[in-house]
Amino acid sequence: MASSAGHGNRYRCLKCGFTLDEDPRIWKCPKCGYILDLVYEYGDTLPEYKELFRCSRGIWCFSNQIPRYSSTYSLGEGLTRTRVIRIDNLDIVAKLELYNPTGSFKDRGTAVAISMVKSLVGGNSIKVVEDSSGNAGLSTSCYAAYTGLTPVIVVPRTAPRGKINAIELCGGNIIVAHNRDHASEVARELADREGYIYLPHTWLPHFVEGMKTIAYELYLEHGEELTHIFIPSSSGSALIGVYRGYLDLYRWGYIASIPKIIAVQNTYAYPLYRLAKNREPEIVEEQTLADGVSLKNPPRLLEMKKAIENSGGDVIVVSNSEIRHSVKTLITQGILPEPTSASALAGLIKYSVYVEKPDRPAILITGSGLKMIDTLKQIAT
Ligand SMILES: [Zn+2]
Repeated sequence: MASSAGHGNRYRCLKCGFTLDEDPRIWKCPKCGYILDLVYEYGDTLPEYKELFRCSRGIWCFSNQIPRYSSTYSLGEGLTRTRVIRIDNLDIVAKLELYNPTGSFKDRGTAVAISMVKSLVGGNSIKVVEDSSGNAGLSTSCYAAYTGLTPVIVVPRTAPRGKINAIELCGGNIIVAHNRDHASEVARELADREGYIYLPHTWLPHFVEGMKTIAYELYLEHGEELTHIFIPSSSGSALIGVYRGYLDLYRWGYIASIPKIIAVQNTYAYPLYRLAKNREPEIVEEQTLADGVSLKNPPRLLEMKKAIENSGGDVIVVSNSEIRHSVKTLITQGILPEPTSASALAGLIKYSVYVEKPDRPAILITGSGLKMIDTLKQIAT
């Protein structure tokens, strides 16, 4: 039965099973406080590849596979291409997510979240708030401003200057918090006290649902050839979304098996490694060059574990020196990655040495280094 909003999307708690109509003002289970999934009906047939070439609606070109809304918005996210690069005698498929409108994969999730707000919230002067170390904040800022919402982005003091500048240029109002956890607290207070719509990419299922399109695109471009997919993982939206996208493809009969999904974390933030391996990494560092993957307690941790285990995958932890090496390597290939993205390559190299040599690996180049070119220059020279 359709919800009062008319789209039929429902929230369902992943712990207690409580369900309710999708509501932009709810971001966690009202009963137990756990994470929510979005339940909705969707088709089981992908668009033809040639149809996508003629489609200019971003991820909404997959509108039969992702949540439906009365108003959908796109800045041209998704439908990114891949390149095959040869490194250490491996032919690697690099999924170039850095070519999304605001320079990161987050745009796929933001397009869904913002379309939800625009479709389900009435009235003018709607303020949306997000806490982010950078990419999600920039993405939310640009999509919100473009669609007539007012974005407020709470960033930790350590957020790269280039990302903060970009957020402000896009129309985002910046609030600086002491650290990542404090940023979340401030954002939630603004939602509770001031009635802002809180759009936490770490919690909202819309981000996961948007990321399914990465798997669809990899399939449409590469069929069943990919054996392993390496994903820098913090909140887990890309990790879980890619897994679910491949699970869809498997259930729909497009593929006979799901590629191994390999999460890449780092020596500063490794909660999935700790949970999956039940041990600490050999090296632990006080900070990481991969600023985009620095969450120590992501809400979807159990779902992340499921994604790697059910796909026969793994989790790899990489150090700052390994990330630095991979940044330099990618630059020699003409790819300017943010260091977080380079950790995917670092994870692949380490996995090849210590676990197995993948036949046909893919890495997600999740974000562009152009937002933090000073840092990139320091790292690479
Ligand atoms: Zn619950």
